[in-house]
Amino acid sequence: MTTIIREIREQFNPAKPSQCIGQVELLTVDETKEVVTAANKAFEDWKNTSSVVRGELLRVTADLLEQNIDKVAETASNEMGKTKNEMIGEVKRGASILRYFAQEGMRATGEVLPSANEGKMLYTMRVPLGVVAAITPWNFPVAIPLWKIAPALVYGNTVVWKPSIESALTGKLIGELFEQAGIPKNVLTVVQGRGSKVGQVLLEAPEVKAITFTGSNGVGQSILDSAGSTKKKIQLELGGKNAAIILADADIHLAAKLTMEGAMKQTGQRCTATSRVYIEESVYDEVLARLIEEAREIKVGTSMGPVSSKGQYESILAAIEKAKLEGAKLVYGGGPTQGKSEGYYIDPTIFTNVTHAMGIARDEIFGPVLAVIKVKDYEEAIRLSNDSEFGLSASIYTNNIQKAFDFIQRSEVGLVQVNDETGGAEPQAPFGGMKNSSTGAREQGQAAKEFFTTFKTVTIRTQGM
Ligand code: NAD
Repeated sequence: MTTIIREIREQFNPAKPSQCIGQVELLTVDETKEVVTAANKAFEDWKNTSSVVRGELLRVTADLLEQNIDKVAETASNEMGKTKNEMIGEVKRGASILRYFAQEGMRATGEVLPSANEGKMLYTMRVPLGVVAAITPWNFPVAIPLWKIAPALVYGNTVVWKPSIESALTGKLIGELFEQAGIPKNVLTVVQGRGSKVGQVLLEAPEVKAITFTGSNGVGQSILDSAGSTKKKIQLELGGKNAAIILADADIHLAAKLTMEGAMKQTGQRCTATSRVYIEESVYDEVLARLIEEAREIKVGTSMGPVSSKGQYESILAAIEKAKLEGAKLVYGGGPTQGKSEGYYIDPTIFTNVTHAMGIARDEIFGPVLAVIKVKDYEEAIRLSNDSEFGLSASIYTNNIQKAFDFIQRSEVGLVQVNDETGGAEPQAPFGGMKNSSTGAREQGQAAKEFFTTFKTVTIRTQGM
């Protein structure tokens, strides 16, 4: 008999760190290898299951997710600090993602092409890859996993999913909903564990044919270093340092409101959060005053949750201190929220006098911190907004149609917004960035097919035999 000793991890509520909200058993390295082997075996049947049937399974999971919306939202909110309302929005989005990809099961998976040769038929078929490893972060514990798992499954792959240990209980719940929906054994397996152990097994396992990862640039780079030479397909969705530009002709009230929402929603812990704003000098004072007013409206503890963990709390506070030392001027917030006896709460924070040499203008902080920068005109704004290693999303607020189109053309990002905040994604549209924000095919929409399938090109001699 073999005795397996697993590490037990206790999850704590970032709003009340003294409260243990549950435990999760972390898999061993050997168990993870067994999961991958089983997923590889399950692939044989799953790839031959009709895609209509595979899609139907996603639809049933969407129904179950909606029926359990309260439980999933509550669990995730307690686990990683997002407010319950924010989580309800995310769970609804998760259900839409499942429904979109459920429909994919009924769509064409190839095309017939004209052949140059008489008596030959030429066509393409999209076929699955095999075992896909999905490695996901804690900040969208429902939507991000689903926008990887749903397309992977509907196109016929089996999936081994490693959620972040910071959102492990939510991951477990999502896995159970797929089980309830009737997913065959080993077609989707949730593996709980640390990146350095369980994650590493997924990177190295020869049966894993593709890795879809969302997370930090540091871990993304280590994935490229370890799996880059293995011929696995790799998709990395990484960090952002998203800029907004507010021009003098914009609707100033709307621009300030949406910029603040973009910066502070989900306590700034979104890869698409607005973290720099460039304001034309003629309206700078007015916009800054409005931004501060908007920040005052945020009720920390109700409309804005805590940051997700002690690690996040310390790293955001350190970034704030660094900004002060580098000479940025703190005009709002700037530290732990007063009057909270516990919880990782940080005030919405605004800095001015920011230069592009400062960390606050260049590094992803992943917290409720906004850098405000005065610019002479639109040309300076676009130049500075593009001066970043990241290229995920960017916004412009303007009523000038030429400048809006110019921005769409010249902005070096994957997601461009005009008169809206930097965040936001819909399941039917491709999602992803440029520069150091993404590597590999885009996620969601029809673009997802590029990553989760490969082609077979078929030629049939129909005459002259
Ligand atoms: P992270 O990189 O720390 O972890 C992400 C996942 O990778 C987790 O499941 C973790 O366990 C795993 N991991 C860690 N080390 C690993 C290793 N050596 N091998 C394999 N797996 C490993 O990121 P996080 O803190 O969970 O999430 C925050 C980051 O995610 C931010 O940088 C944010 O910008 C980014 N993010 C990007 C997008 C996007 O679509 N571009 C969306 C959300 C979050």
